[in-house]
Amino acid sequence: MRRKSQTPRRAWVEDEPLARSPKRAFGVIAASLVLLGGTLGAVSVGSFEFGAVGSPATQARALPARTPSVAQPSAGSPSPTPTPTPTPTPLPEYVEGEPYIVNGIWLINRTHTVDEKYLVEGPGTDGLQAEASKYYEKMRAAAAKQGHYIYISMGYRSFEEQTEIYARNVRALGKNQKAAAPPGASEHSAGLAADICSQEGCGNNFGASESGKWVAKNAWKYGFILRYPKTKTEITGYQYEPWHFRYIGREHTAAFHEDPELTLEEYLGVE
Ligand SMILES: [Zn+2]
Repeated sequence: MRRKSQTPRRAWVEDEPLARSPKRAFGVIAASLVLLGGTLGAVSVGSFEFGAVGSPATQARALPARTPSVAQPSAGSPSPTPTPTPTPTPLPEYVEGEPYIVNGIWLINRTHTVDEKYLVEGPGTDGLQAEASKYYEKMRAAAAKQGHYIYISMGYRSFEEQTEIYARNVRALGKNQKAAAPPGASEHSAGLAADICSQEGCGNNFGASESGKWVAKNAWKYGFILRYPKTKTEITGYQYEPWHFRYIGREHTAAFHEDPELTLEEYLGVE
């Protein structure tokens, strides 16, 4: 006889979001808002201080922004000011296993992995870091005003969970699978990515839905980017994921608004 309480098997594919009942989603949101209330004001994304006291992430040293140096004309100079030539600051050196922060953005991908000790659950909605959660909630409220009821099917994911999911995907799809990140290479484990669903659906159904289109169009206003665009699998190493959004902060998203197929790797000028 089968037991009714048997836990359903998890999906093979890393980011195939698991449908969640709206009732449960609202419960999570309500609980998260309480959490959020206690954490607002304790964040500074530029220096990556998430306000999580004792968090290893706070040890990540923020590197100065790559601001082009501008030559200042001397006072009273009769010659016209030449157009300044931006001098790109060299990229910071990547030390394997250490957080790789470029221009204030923590880059996590297959070539820039991070040790488990730096990956901590955030205090926000579904384990997002405080600032990412704050802006996710703003986006969710704005979406709801337009009749799009979105929720997160996967926010933070632990290193152990990622290890299991990666192993399962490699067994099922082979070593070159483009669905799951190896442990230490997932933005979910840093609490900086959200897989978004809506009442209209999850996964590719979300991408094709009106609510998915709304999020794709408006996420930049809240500091989020579509992380794995349709035409950039060769750069990102991942298939198109219309549900996976990464928080990088509003000060960085204008370029992604102009070019919705832009990748974070291209924006930062790294692999
Ligand atoms: Zn995801």
